Amino acid sequence: MTLKTQRDIKIINSANAIVDIELLKKAMLWYANGKPITSIKKIGFNGMYPCVSFGRKKLPIHKLIGLYLLGKRSVSSEYVFHHVNHNKMDARASNIKLMNKHDHLSMHNKGRIVTEKMRERLLEMNHARKGKRFKYKHPEIKPIDVYNMVQSGKSITSIAKFYGIRWNCIRHRYEDAIELLNKFDKEV
Ligand SMILES: [Zn+2]
Repeated sequence: MTLKTQRDIKIINSANAIVDIELLKKAMLWYANGKPITSIKKIGFNGMYPCVSFGRKKLPIHKLIGLYLLGKRSVSSEYVFHHVNHNKMDARASNIKLMNKHDHLSMHNKGRIVTEKMRERLLEMNHARKGKRFKYKHPEIKPIDVYNMVQSGKSITSIAKFYGIRWNCIRHRYEDAIELLNKFDKEV
């Protein structure tokens, strides 16, 4: 009987990512879960993120290392791996933080006010997905306007009072706005 053994992997950092290569190797071997992987691996790009491939699957290296450090092969879609210093090229362990998606998006959007020009595009995007999940009782109250009110310091409760609608209707719009902004930025 012959056993296939994994040769040492050589990593070619074509993306010029900031990464601990030894840690990445460990994470890759761990992720491959006993399956031999090609001995030369390239760090390429998937969108804005440096990533490596496992067969057809492309995995951003910060996510792979995050999963490895966590000891879990996946995390629920409620969570994302955030780059602490906001540099997407930096996949060092100290720069990877697991965050709840909602907190993550709020944090990235902190202090951000949507301009009139952007608002138009976001309204189009919101319109395009109408009927899918959210049908508002009061379509005249736009998520982006609620979002801007929150950003300028108003509470969900005071906005609900202002419009005379339920608190959770305002909350939904705020969350929709953040989701739209996220699509707009293609930020994960
Ligand atoms: Zn982030």
